[in-house]
Amino acid sequence: MSAGVSIRALHAYYGATHVLRGVDLEVAAGEVVCLIGPSGSGKSTLLRCVNHLQPIAAGTVHVGGELIGHRRHGDALHELKPRQVARQRAGIGMVFQNFNLFPHLTVLENLVEAPVAVRRLRRADAEERARALVARVGLAGREGSYPRQLSGGQQQRIAIARALAMEPAVMLFDEPTSALDPELVGEVLGVMRDLAGTGMTMVVVTHEMGFAREAADRVVFLDEGRVVESGPPARLLADPEQARTRAFLDHVL
Ligand code: ADP
Ligand code: MG
Repeated sequence: MSAGVSIRALHAYYGATHVLRGVDLEVAAGEVVCLIGPSGSGKSTLLRCVNHLQPIAAGTVHVGGELIGHRRHGDALHELKPRQVARQRAGIGMVFQNFNLFPHLTVLENLVEAPVAVRRLRRADAEERARALVARVGLAGREGSYPRQLSGGQQQRIAIARALAMEPAVMLFDEPTSALDPELVGEVLGVMRDLAGTGMTMVVVTHEMGFAREAADRVVFLDEGRVVESGPPARLLADPEQARTRAFLDHVL
């Protein structure tokens, strides 16, 4: 079951650097949102706040109606127990630019590891599910390969399958095709497009405007730690309301 994500008045810092400066973003269950914006605008930090990888300084994040963390100016941090954090994190899939597969594990082992260790699935059940997922990303037959034996595009498709093996309610992608040779980008975007078609909630940081145009329900433009504007891709990409959005799009399109 997909879940929605609700981000309100979110602030985050690195040391004294105020990186997220009051982000409001509602993502409905099953919605596909592409997050665009200049380098350093806070896109990765925003995803990291949803997944407990980044402390929240102020504001709230909810996933599936459940509080991920919050703090009001002056208040003590709302502390979740480590077990709650682990459970919430297990329900949120994350795909990074650099695949981050376990290099010493085969494809199948990469997909079986977390469901067995965290979800307490029986190994045989986890393997059955893993094989189906490997097939779903078009790599049936490669279950015994090691990551280094796969192309970057194949590794990223396995990284997506690994995230899906946890049956997440939300999938976060942080520039999933940025490290790939151009000819390998399409196969990864194809897997993501298929996933979007299944009703998965997806937040995708990407510079692939073609993907945003075809697969996103909404595009959100972030700059200097704030949402500048958001709208349907056809409207926002062709006819942005804000000068900053237009300047950015003139650069990337
Ligand atoms: P984006 O993903 O949009 O490029 P980030 O969220 O990675 O932006 O970074 C936002 C800002 O935070 C940038 O100015 C960046 O330099 C700074 N930043 C990111 N990560 C760190 C870090 N680990 N330590 C200090 N500053 C960081
Ligand atoms: Mg980034």
